[in-house]
Amino acid sequence: MTRSPISRRFGRYKMQHAAAYAIGAALHRAPPFPSASDNNRIQTLARRITQCAVSTTLKIATPPGDATHIVYRNKRRCRSGLCPPCARKRAWETVKRIAAVLDAVIVASPDMRFALLTLTSRNMPIEAVSDMLRLQESAMARFFRAKAVRNALQGHVTGIEIAIRSEDGNWQAGVHSHSLAALCDSYFDRTKPIYLSQRAIVDLWRAALRVDYKPICHIRAIPNSDAAHASLTECLKYAVAPHRLFERDNGGFSVDPLVAAHLANALYKRRMCRTAGVFSKPRRPNAEGTAV
Ligand SMILES: [Zn+2]
Repeated sequence: MTRSPISRRFGRYKMQHAAAYAIGAALHRAPPFPSASDNNRIQTLARRITQCAVSTTLKIATPPGDATHIVYRNKRRCRSGLCPPCARKRAWETVKRIAAVLDAVIVASPDMRFALLTLTSRNMPIEAVSDMLRLQESAMARFFRAKAVRNALQGHVTGIEIAIRSEDGNWQAGVHSHSLAALCDSYFDRTKPIYLSQRAIVDLWRAALRVDYKPICHIRAIPNSDAAHASLTECLKYAVAPHRLFERDNGGFSVDPLVAAHLANALYKRRMCRTAGVFSKPRRPNAEGTAV
């Protein structure tokens, strides 16, 4: 029997709820860090995420005369990027907010083209994840400031993402970013040298990262505005890719306390989403007084 979309979504919500308990439990068991303030912060977060999971109720309801829907109630949301239900909610709010900006950009410039840009760096041990985020941020700032990039792009929305993987019991973190980039008008005009080839992107990102290896980068043109919306969701979907974080055991989830603690420190007060150019300018009424 194939499951309906709503029951699949309900299954996903239940899994995220169980994962929140697992994250809370892992943080409670986190190994001590040298700094007392780090430890206090981690224990406070552990309590908040556990409270968040405890106060959540989740059920499927079909009121008479109404469609079946999921009832998700939580009056004590922890709003942590590490809590899967809160991260889902936050991503949804961010996508909704920026989708409205994207709509305004498309209305103002119906011919604008977009591209999806992915910038990565090499995996490193989980202990380095905070430093890696800082490096990604400063490298992104250098990359988007580079003349060739400024000439080609009118703005971008970027989400930074952490992917975790275990290799022979050693945890590694990979940091990368996905950007929805608004391209300049003559970007695809071969008579104007502003087009960024795959190779040019690799060279620019390598210089921005200040490394001597060839980092993995992709740039892909987006065919139309529907696809631009889908790419926006792709860019902002989560800060920590959940698949590898949770190891399933006996039907439940388990999270390595060390990994959870390093992620908690890395995500503390960090913005994982950036906007620039056409995506950050407020759309003001034009000279004729009509909104553009
Ligand atoms: Zn939460």
